[in-house]
Amino acid sequence: MDFLPIFMNIRDRDCLVIGGGSVAARKAALLAEAGANVTIVAPEICDEVREQVDSGRYRWLERGFTDADLDGKALVIAATDDEAVNEHVSAEARKRNLPVNVVDNPKLCSFIMPSMIDRSPVQIAISTGGASPVLARMLRTQLEGSIPTGYGRLAALVEGYRDKVKAALPSVDERKNFWEEILEGPVAELSFSGKEEEAKTALEEALEKAGEHAGTTRGEVFLVGAGPGDPDLLTFRALRLMQKADVVVYDRLVSKPIMDMVRRDAERIYVGKARANHAVPQEGINEILVRLAKEGKRVLRLKGGDPFIFGRGGEEISELMENGIDFQVVPGITAAAGCAAYSGIPLTHRDYSQSVTFVTGHRKADGDSLNWPALAAPQQTVVFYMGLHCVETLCNQLIAHGRGAETPAALVEKGTQPDQKVYIGELGTLPDLVKQRDVKPPTLIIVGEVVEMHKKLKWFQPHPTIR
Ligand code: SAH
Repeated sequence: MDFLPIFMNIRDRDCLVIGGGSVAARKAALLAEAGANVTIVAPEICDEVREQVDSGRYRWLERGFTDADLDGKALVIAATDDEAVNEHVSAEARKRNLPVNVVDNPKLCSFIMPSMIDRSPVQIAISTGGASPVLARMLRTQLEGSIPTGYGRLAALVEGYRDKVKAALPSVDERKNFWEEILEGPVAELSFSGKEEEAKTALEEALEKAGEHAGTTRGEVFLVGAGPGDPDLLTFRALRLMQKADVVVYDRLVSKPIMDMVRRDAERIYVGKARANHAVPQEGINEILVRLAKEGKRVLRLKGGDPFIFGRGGEEISELMENGIDFQVVPGITAAAGCAAYSGIPLTHRDYSQSVTFVTGHRKADGDSLNWPALAAPQQTVVFYMGLHCVETLCNQLIAHGRGAETPAALVEKGTQPDQKVYIGELGTLPDLVKQRDVKPPTLIIVGEVVEMHKKLKWFQPHPTIR
């Protein structure tokens, strides 16, 4: 993060704009809208500025900038077309630790102006850190369309009830739930359609009801599949619940960009899970989920891929059921589907492979064995999860049970993520490939003739690193 976004109170403060052209006029208007006392310094001013000066809204110093103009100012904007003046203003302001913005010159700025959506009191500011103002404006246009103008009215309405709600609902989580229901439900709809009085009545009724049940809220667990890493592969429902959670319990496979999309103020609990190196053992995870839900929290159990494919989701929900806790399960794109699509390897093919099997390489300590004759049969694709550490055994067993050593095989490391790597080999060479290329988990192993297809399908892959 290159800039800290903040909203600054400049009401009744003296602010300085240097320059009198149309750009200066726009900046001055923003300052004035935020309640500042605006002074313009410029030998000449355009009609827009003159109008404000004539009506007494801005003070105008009809001359060039002098350093003393900065005295007593809260903020300064340089908007002249004279580079030397802009640089000088920037240097002088910085000397005094005075926030300074030089229009269209991020290097000379101590703060930059965002692209804005104004639904006062709701303000949305978008910045690209000066990298591309056009992109910021495009995002603004998109958001403008999706944020009802009524949001301002709604915010003003709820503002008046904050203290009452605080008194009626002492628990922070209960208050959060209450406000979410208000802001997404009928009260919001009434306010958007301009029925302010009805909205007020509905809010008061909801508050009374919530107050009667205070202290008895039941928690809930959302068991959500986060997919293999690319946040674009989240489902809408996953995203919605990620935004709703009070606390998130996550493991190693959940990528950082996805964690960044979880509600900012949600508590985060890491429960690890590198193979055989659980930061918290499974029973411990089950207990955490139950305890948090019993505290009345909305618990997001976020898992890599799909929760029901080698995700121990079944164990977690049986524990929840035993404890009478409400839950929802949201499927995710499993590693096999994600890796296949992003490496151009279809998992089945009319001619070469009529079935696909997902197999775990990580077996229980008692050593129960896989059905090797079935897995080695021709005309099928076999996908190994958690197989990297035992790739040699897997390949040897398949070959020993009749699958040809020359059968195409692929390793997909960090599938769907920006640093995805795909290594192509054969059953007989795969273990050496792992050693030579120092392949790291998480990696998926795909065995079968379909692997050959990646040559043809390479062109459409989002992450084309094929070795
Ligand atoms: N529930 C998950 C699987 C968990 S088991 C799912 O449905 O995808 C963990 C194994 O999944 C890893 O050892 C690895 O083999 C595979 N895996 C998960 N994410 C992966 C990724 N982004 N790239 C490659 N393999 C991945």
